[in-house]
Amino acid sequence: MSKDLYIYNSLSRNKDLFQPLNAPFVGLYVCGPTVYANVHLGNCRTFMFFDVVYRYLTHLGYKVRYVRNITDVGHITSTFDDGVDRIGQQARLEQLEPMEIVQKYTNYFHEVMRVFNNHSPSIEPTATGHMIEQIEMIKKILDQGFAYEVNGSIYFDVQAYRAKYPYGELSGRNVEELYENTRTLDGQDEKKFFADFALWKAASPEHIMRWPSPWGEGFPGWHLECSAMSTKYLGEQFDIHGGGMDLKFPHHESEIAQNTACCGKGPVKYWMHSNMLTVNGQKMSKSLGNSFLPHELFAGDHPLLEKGYTPQVVRFFMMQAHYRSTLDFSNDALNAAEKAYERMMSAYESIEQCKPSTESDADISALEARCYAAMGDDFNTPILIAELFEAVRLINGCKNGQQALTAEQLTHLKTIMDHFLMDVMGLQAPEASADHELPNVMMDAVFAVRKGLKERKDYATADLLRDAFAERNIVLKDTKEGGEWTYEKK
Ligand code: AMP
Ligand code: ZN
Repeated sequence: MSKDLYIYNSLSRNKDLFQPLNAPFVGLYVCGPTVYANVHLGNCRTFMFFDVVYRYLTHLGYKVRYVRNITDVGHITSTFDDGVDRIGQQARLEQLEPMEIVQKYTNYFHEVMRVFNNHSPSIEPTATGHMIEQIEMIKKILDQGFAYEVNGSIYFDVQAYRAKYPYGELSGRNVEELYENTRTLDGQDEKKFFADFALWKAASPEHIMRWPSPWGEGFPGWHLECSAMSTKYLGEQFDIHGGGMDLKFPHHESEIAQNTACCGKGPVKYWMHSNMLTVNGQKMSKSLGNSFLPHELFAGDHPLLEKGYTPQVVRFFMMQAHYRSTLDFSNDALNAAEKAYERMMSAYESIEQCKPSTESDADISALEARCYAAMGDDFNTPILIAELFEAVRLINGCKNGQQALTAEQLTHLKTIMDHFLMDVMGLQAPEASADHELPNVMMDAVFAVRKGLKERKDYATADLLRDAFAERNIVLKDTKEGGEWTYEKK
């Protein structure tokens, strides 16, 4: 049975056979969140997908070092640097220390990753914890003649770099075409060439997050941290670098240029980019105002949502699309995912109830081989799910006496589902994720009691119950189906 893995490499624009640089070890770097706001579901799609990459490589027996950073320095987010420090800006808005902002949103991020059953990375380095490495990298790039200093800022010299190395290979962008968009942005007057980007920016007096450097007080450019931290923990060349499609340019293109300028070679063998979660065809993003927070989705607490969905259903929904396709968010799609997830899990949980036969015409090994083939074809989770529904069909057939399966085959089916549903896709059977549902289950009981009290016309006690919750900021609302509750901070 072949377990070959082909990965669509954004750099070669091909599905390349995965051959680690130093098997059985694999180095995997994924750009982490910028912690100035709650991660939204779009961000979660990307992190969930790379969790599957990590899980599958581990399942194949590789010893994976998975590095996912936390961007906790003011992240400069437009195509070219516009000088806005998001964390500093949020700190002013919330009247908190920048590091309180960083901690607050890192905590939320970790909680969300846990609820979605993502594995923790092997190393989660922060940009602020790697100032020395970043400054050292800038020094090397300066020494190689690919950067220059102006007024305490250091810029990457794209023209000097282009004279020696190709620039723009990953994104396929032609530098000249970008000229129109960049003229008005911050720092343009300091740059030799409009496409040069900051490795280090001198801090203006009002800039809060700042560090000493050989060039005066300032802060590192957005792209530098990933170059410095991936090199530190995975080496000058490593296997896989991932992130959302929107990071290809300028972030990853700049990473390649920085690493190559510093070390004389491209850093990454396989570049992987996952596609966007969209809402009505538009990229989900905080700035467009169309983003949902994970807990809004769980509670169904958003005008665009008809009801809530468990984290496992949301994960299943994400797995039903291939990572290089966009995935559009809709109530219909989520409802369909919920039904499919329940059908899958109830078959999984009922394997033990199947009566084994002594003979069977089913070919379970072929089914298993097709599961590996699906994952081996650039992590094709939707095909994998279709194959697992073939397992569901066999199990259900066995239960209603229409499909003979031997005891050995039933055990084999259970193993396949354990491997691919649980270990690889990171799904959990409903009771394993029940702790997230516990508040809802308890509130259902509260509504049942309230209904009983009202039927007995004991309105005083029913009100007492409502008021007791209200005191704890939980608002109860009776509905035809039972009731709804929301947590409302005073
Ligand atoms: P950021 O914190 O903005 O750097 O984003 C963290 C990760 O989420 C990056 O890999 C982005 O590419 C990814 N991302 C942002 N928006 C979306 C979206 N709508 N769908 C999928 N991934 C996204
Ligand atoms: Zn990055």
